[in-house]
Amino acid sequence: MIKIKKRKILLLPGDGIGPEVMAEVKKIINWYNYKKFLDFETDEDLVGGCSYDKHGTPLTDEVFFKALESAVVMLGAVGGPKWDTVEFAKRPERALLKLRKELKLFANLRPAICFKQLVDASTLKPEIVSGLDIMIVRELTGGIYFGEPRGIKPIENGERRGTNTHTYTSSEIIRVARIAFDLAKKRSNKVTSCEKSNVMEAGQLWREEVQLLHEKEYKEVELNHMLADNCAMQLLRNPKQFDVIVTDNLFGDILSDQASMLTGSLGLLPSASLGAKNKEGEMRAMYEPIHGSAPDITGKGIANPIASILSFAMALKYSFNHDKEAENLEKAVQAVLEDGFRTKDIMSKGMKEVSTSQMGDAIISKLK
Ligand code: NAD
Repeated sequence: MIKIKKRKILLLPGDGIGPEVMAEVKKIINWYNYKKFLDFETDEDLVGGCSYDKHGTPLTDEVFFKALESAVVMLGAVGGPKWDTVEFAKRPERALLKLRKELKLFANLRPAICFKQLVDASTLKPEIVSGLDIMIVRELTGGIYFGEPRGIKPIENGERRGTNTHTYTSSEIIRVARIAFDLAKKRSNKVTSCEKSNVMEAGQLWREEVQLLHEKEYKEVELNHMLADNCAMQLLRNPKQFDVIVTDNLFGDILSDQASMLTGSLGLLPSASLGAKNKEGEMRAMYEPIHGSAPDITGKGIANPIASILSFAMALKYSFNHDKEAENLEKAVQAVLEDGFRTKDIMSKGMKEVSTSQMGDAIISKLK
């Protein structure tokens, strides 16, 4: 059993724009260490395509063990056309799947926040998305993506059958629902649990277990159950009705992508993947922007670092319990947007276009 070092952050910048946006996160960690005496210990290593190039594998055992002893893994992005022909088991993305699975990161948190300064970047009407602040909690290590039996088999008449199994146990549902209820208590105190209990037994179990947990431990939180297809529709019709949405792996995959587009740009959205707490109350976690390695803009100095910086704000809040510092960092991002600073992806008329590092510097200048 590898012990978690409470203040250790492992930086894995990865490929493409990963190192460019991670450079800005590093500046911010350094700022907190020097100005606020937060004693974060950092280490940095290779992951994804760059690791494959050097070591022939996207994740070496050494880096995996470093991740195991770190309280936080900050990931940039992995992948790119250079590695598209590499055999499946050694593709850059396999490193992420291994980290999520082996670190047992079962809850994926994806906030969808629409900054009022960027309300026009959304494809929805401003009055629908202005002030939007949703947190989607997706179960990440169970359900149909992992269930057995699975596979493609020949059957009679020259046909083939593809099978995947949607399966959940009570404890898998309860642990992720608990995360959603605890989050709601720190936000607007409302959880919407989504499944397809009308047509799926696993969905019926999901609904029953969430309801039971609510009755036993979280009566003070408002709970609604919603069918996942209705949730998809409501996210477009009236997204501000939601506070925390909790759902399974498959529906969470789809609903969180849908919610992210309400806010306009990929370059703005952070995410967190959390594991279970041990007896000492410590947990492993990985934080990363939701965007990929953006090969089309790599090396141009124009990538938006905000998603990565907000991912670090999530780490401050959920892994280190520095709620005040997290809020400070989120406010600094908003203040910079208020001042009209924009990277190319969110640029609009009358605003001031800045590079990746200028955006990072501007955010640091607003930190208190
Ligand atoms: P992508 O997210 O990399 O890019 C999609 C579009 O958004 C591109 O036009 C890109 O320039 C833009 N974009 C993304 N992030 C941005 C940022 N921070 N600032 C400004 N613009 C930004 O998705 P893709 O093009 O489908 O995938 C590229 C590679 O990334 C693929 O190899 C894919 O497998 C990989 N990928 C990795 C992750 C991850 O590491 N978690 C996630 C998604 C995709």
